[in-house]
Amino acid sequence: MSTQPQDHAGHDAAHEVEVLRRKFEQLIAEAAHNEKVLKRMQERELQLLRADSLPALLRMMIEGLRESYFLDAVSVVLLDPQHEIRHLLMAGGDRPEEFRQVFFVDSLVSLAPQLAALHKPWLGTFAAADHQLLFPGAAGLKSIALLPMPRKDYAVGALCFGSHDALRFTREHATDFLGHMGAVAAVCLENAVNRARLLRAGITDFLTGWHNRRYLQQRMREEIARAQRQNGQIACLMIDIDHFKGINDAYGHLVGDNVLKEFAHRIELQMRSMDTAARFGGDEFAILLPGASAAAAAKLAERIRAAVAGEPFVLTAQVHRSLSASVGVAVVSPSRDDNDFKSLADRLLADADAALYRAKALGRNRVQAGSG
Ligand code: GH3
Ligand code: MG
Repeated sequence: MSTQPQDHAGHDAAHEVEVLRRKFEQLIAEAAHNEKVLKRMQERELQLLRADSLPALLRMMIEGLRESYFLDAVSVVLLDPQHEIRHLLMAGGDRPEEFRQVFFVDSLVSLAPQLAALHKPWLGTFAAADHQLLFPGAAGLKSIALLPMPRKDYAVGALCFGSHDALRFTREHATDFLGHMGAVAAVCLENAVNRARLLRAGITDFLTGWHNRRYLQQRMREEIARAQRQNGQIACLMIDIDHFKGINDAYGHLVGDNVLKEFAHRIELQMRSMDTAARFGGDEFAILLPGASAAAAAKLAERIRAAVAGEPFVLTAQVHRSLSASVGVAVVSPSRDDNDFKSLADRLLADADAALYRAKALGRNRVQAGSG
C-alpha cells in the first residue's frame, strides 16, 4: 500500500517521458521532412529560374514540374490578352499550339471561375464541373492545387497541379511552399517575356513586323548550309519601291510609312510559308526562297511586281496612287566543297542587288534575273 502511490508516480513520470520522447521524435521527423520538402521545392524553383528562354520555361513548368513533383497532370494558364506571348513564341520559331498544356487566355475566369479571385494557392477536391477545362484529357483526378502567379497586384497566370491521390492536395495542407513556387514562376515568366522581347527587337523591323537585315543574313547562312547538305539550291529576291522618296517628299513621312506597310503586306500575300522575308533597309525588301529554282523565283518576283502595280495605294482618303517596284533575282547552288557559307550568302545578296540595279536602270517596274 505504501509503495503504490510511488509506483503510480513513477509510472506516470515514465509515461510522460515516453510521450515527450515520441513527441520529440515526431518533431525531429517533421523538421527533417520539412527540410527535405524545402530542398526539393528550392530545386524545382531553381530549375524554373535556370530556364533561359520562353519555350524552355514553359516546358519546365509543364514537364519539369510534373516529373519532379510526381504529379498526374500539370497545366499552365497564362494571361495573354494582347497575344504577345504567343507572338513572341512564334517569332522564335515555336508554335504556341504545341504547348498543349499551356492555355493562353484573355482573362483568367474563362477557364475556371475560381481563378478570378485566386490570391493564394487553392488546394482541394477535383470537381469536374469546375476544373475539367483546366485539365483536359486528364482522367481520374481526385485532388488539385491551383497556384496563382502573382505580379504586382494581380495574377498573370496560374499553375494547376492535379493528382490521382485524394489526399495529395487538401484544404488542411500548408500552402506556403506552393505560394512561393507560384511567385517564382511569375517572375520567371516576366523575365522570359522580357528577354524574348529584347531578342525580337534585335531581329525585327518595327514598322512592318518583318525580320531585319541582320536576321536575314544569319538565316541565309543556315539555309545555304542546308542547301549544300541536300544538294539543293536557294534563291533570293531583292525588291525595291520605285521613286519612293517622292511619296515622302509629297505626302510626308507617315504616309510613306503606311505605303511601306501596305507594300510589305502585298508581298506577304504572294509568299510561301517556308520563305523568309526581311526588310533590308529603307524601301528595300529581300526574300529568301529555299529550294526554289531560278524560274520559280522569277515567277514569284513577277507576281509580286504585278501585286504592287496592279492596284493603287491609298495614300490619304482623297489620294490613291499607283506605285511600282523593281525586283532582282539571284540563285545559288552551293557545291559540296564550298563551305564558306558567309561568302556564299554575301554573293547571293550582291547578285540579287546587282540584278535589282539593272531593273532600275532598264526603266523600273520590272524583274531582272541573274548576275550577268
Ligand atoms: P528608286 O526608284 O531609285 O528606288 O527611287 P527611290 O526614291 O525609291 O530611292 P531612294 O533609295 O533614294 O529612296 C528611298 C527613300 O526611303 C529615302 C528615305 O528617306 C526613305 N525611307 C527610308 N526608310 C524609311 C521609313 O522607314 N519610312 C519612310 N517614310 N521613309 C523611309
Ligand atoms: Mg526605292
